[in-house]
Amino acid sequence: SFNRGLAQLFRRCDKKAKNDKGKAVSKRNIHLAPGLYFVATPIGTARDITLRALDILTNVDILAAEDTRSLRKLMDIHGVALNERPILAYHDHNGARMRPKLMQYLQEGRSVAYASEAGTPLIADPGFDLSKTAAEAGVLVTTAPGPSAVITALTLAGLPTDRFLFEGFVPNARSARLAALRNLLNVPATLVFYESPKRLVPFLQDACAVYGENRQAAYCRELTKKFEDIQRGTLAELLAKAQTGPVKGEIVVIIDRAQSSPVNESDIEAQLKIALQSMSVRDAAEFVAQAHGVAKRKIYQMALNIEQKP
Ligand code: SAM
Repeated sequence: SFNRGLAQLFRRCDKKAKNDKGKAVSKRNIHLAPGLYFVATPIGTARDITLRALDILTNVDILAAEDTRSLRKLMDIHGVALNERPILAYHDHNGARMRPKLMQYLQEGRSVAYASEAGTPLIADPGFDLSKTAAEAGVLVTTAPGPSAVITALTLAGLPTDRFLFEGFVPNARSARLAALRNLLNVPATLVFYESPKRLVPFLQDACAVYGENRQAAYCRELTKKFEDIQRGTLAELLAKAQTGPVKGEIVVIIDRAQSSPVNESDIEAQLKIALQSMSVRDAAEFVAQAHGVAKRKIYQMALNIEQKP
């Protein structure tokens, strides 16, 4: 039918998009200078790859990836053939062993592309040591920039973006996590954290304790994917939302900077009330005292008073 014909035509146009000079702008055969090419890959939707990233993946001599299967899948989606080129795994566990091999290729004058599993290499992902070693050896180091969850989340969270601090993953253990959050208490910048869905609730509990329930924040889930979901509100509202059911998918948490007034006694009381819902008086007092780096005795007394109120 006419409509099917039109749809086919659009699909063909989409595959072989032309720029205004009539040249094809889909992936091209080009000569790449020898060097190390960090290639950013999509964090969800495969079509978020850039044209230059496809050019590099198409023409580079050697491919290296944190997860070679993910890279091959992405190349398949975009019709980039491997053509007998080596594709090597390079990740946290084999970096020390694989770096000399990649450096040898670079020093022989080859072009090497590196992609992490998703998003931008080096951003909470491997690549730093490789970048440093290659730069120190005087090799060309360049990148095809592209998606990263930190920038995507900042774009959508509705919090100031003029100044931000990317913290990445905070430690798993509660006391280390509290210490990490406390270190950022008065940083005059929007804070960005990567978090796993399993740890979102404990993370938000600790964030409430350290920053106060009323700090504005957002959590951004499944960015660029089908079930993209942005929750905005105070830390207490986000905690209540996260507690309503199992949270799934990949998550970035964004927290607004400290406003001028420091955490006061009524904030501490509110935090103690939350902590007392799931902890003993002693543990709640210790937790809130640790969150603020204040003497436990005073907080313990406040916790006792709360518990004793009918
Ligand atoms: N290199 C990646 C980047 O540029 O964002 C980050 C890799 S790090 C190992 C993976 C973490 O990034 C996830 O646990 C999650 O916190 C965040 N992330 C990655 N993709 C995401 C997405 N589509 N939506 C929300 N968060 C995402």
